Amino acid sequence: MSTSTKTIYELPNTGVKQYKMFINNEWIESASGKMFDSVNPFTGEVWAQAPMGEAEDIDRAVKAAKAAFETGEWSRINGAGRAALLRKLGDLIGENAEILAISEVVDNGKLIREMLGQTKSLPGWCYYFAGLADKIHGESIPVDIPNMINYTVREPLGVVGAIIPWNSPLLLTLFKLGPAIAAGNTMVIKPSEVTPASLLELAKLVEEAGFPPGVINIVTGYGNTAGDALTRHPDVRKLAFTGSSATGKLIVKNSAEHFARVSLELGGKSPNIIFDDADLSNAVNGVLAGIFAASGQTCMAGSRVLVHESIYDEFTEKLVERTSQIRLGNPLDMETEMGTVAFEGQHNKVLSYIEIGESEGAKVLHGGKRPTTDELKNGFFVEPTIFGDVQNDMRIAQEEIFGPVVCLIRFKDEEDALRIANDTEFGLAAAVWTKDVQRAHRMAGKLNAGTVWINNYRKVSYASPFGGYKASGIGRENGMQAVHEYTQVKSIWVDTGNIITDPFKIL
Ligand code: NAD
Repeated sequence: MSTSTKTIYELPNTGVKQYKMFINNEWIESASGKMFDSVNPFTGEVWAQAPMGEAEDIDRAVKAAKAAFETGEWSRINGAGRAALLRKLGDLIGENAEILAISEVVDNGKLIREMLGQTKSLPGWCYYFAGLADKIHGESIPVDIPNMINYTVREPLGVVGAIIPWNSPLLLTLFKLGPAIAAGNTMVIKPSEVTPASLLELAKLVEEAGFPPGVINIVTGYGNTAGDALTRHPDVRKLAFTGSSATGKLIVKNSAEHFARVSLELGGKSPNIIFDDADLSNAVNGVLAGIFAASGQTCMAGSRVLVHESIYDEFTEKLVERTSQIRLGNPLDMETEMGTVAFEGQHNKVLSYIEIGESEGAKVLHGGKRPTTDELKNGFFVEPTIFGDVQNDMRIAQEEIFGPVVCLIRFKDEEDALRIANDTEFGLAAAVWTKDVQRAHRMAGKLNAGTVWINNYRKVSYASPFGGYKASGIGRENGMQAVHEYTQVKSIWVDTGNIITDPFKIL
């Protein structure tokens, strides 16, 4: 693990980096030979190119993954062996945390100070799921039939197709890779076309860790070609997707053609609810962490802040003051507090939502523009933006902006807060800030969200289930439950002495 004390990190200056993709433990170009660009959102310049994988490349990767699952060396490795490989991968990720972090920062503009913390925590996912790999067992079931033993075993599903978004490629891949590999599946992983680099850096470590050919394959390419082909491939037994709710719908439709299982981690419009007895300075920091970390590009962003009417003015003043101190800058500088949004299309989308909010009658209390200083003008920056006087039925309160834009909404009492909080198509996360322990638990019980934080925001762990209610998703990642989502149950019956006298009577 790096012990560096640098403040500004950088890539070695070797020109535009050329990546290959990773299929069957081979580094290859796409079948068409085409490549696509990855743009550094801080400079606006191309810094890397990756192969443009399409249907033919996906087919090649799925065939390799299927062969590895059915007859390859992997099919003969037991839980302890899978655990050893996962642990080795965890060690290598820890040793290479810096290069992994930098690759992601130059692809998506997240902060190096966040990414170094994140990449150093990734080995934890490998070690946790390694610990479960040899503890995946069935049950013995006391069926009410004489002379009969019934037991179950949990078996892997086969080839898992994982489709990853651009906001946290490594972390969201580990959410899937840990349980899928612990359970004995093989994988074809498609990173977002916006951020191919960090997963191809990860593939180098997969190879070094000694995973047999075909177990983990990474195919880079666009969603509507490579991604689409993966969701339609008849040999893919499960699709694990993180991304937008719109793409999630397409994935469910395609999976129906061959009954692949799906788990979906989708969008959010999560409420961060501040009661009048909350510790206000803590809550202000929690709101900042909830919305301005990663420039608001997290599925769990606390993008609607519900504030009790009696403290609305005081809270707003403190929030605006603290927000005005946020340091925008080079995402590779450890001093920077907010980086860019990830790419030009997202930049335009966020700025257009700010216009929509103003036209709906919400008031910009801070930010709202693209910064124009010499340091920032080439990057896809958006000032941290606070909208006051928002009504929950406005588009800016209902639609996922996925940028550094927060909506402040007043509420009268607990019932009003719950009504507003749950009045959304999403249900990923929520937070409650209060010193009243009874109210905190009452609210946690009634909020329609897969995660509720009390007096905190944005915590996740490999051990705790994560996923959404309603349009925010299907299934859960992390924890033992995630391993179960990558297995299927077989029921085995053993007769210990019945004589079959009537073949036409079952019970
Ligand atoms: P996206 O849906 O546009 O893309 C996600 C992935 O799907 C990419 O790899 C893309 O190439 C692929 N894709 C796009 N179209 C496809 C198609 N037709 N068939 C198959 N694959 C296709 O999402 P995004 O813009 O990359 O990510 C942002 C979204 O992800 C936000 O809505 C955010 O809330 C969500 N997200 C959710 C979580 C979570 O855990 N719930 C975490 C992070 C991001």
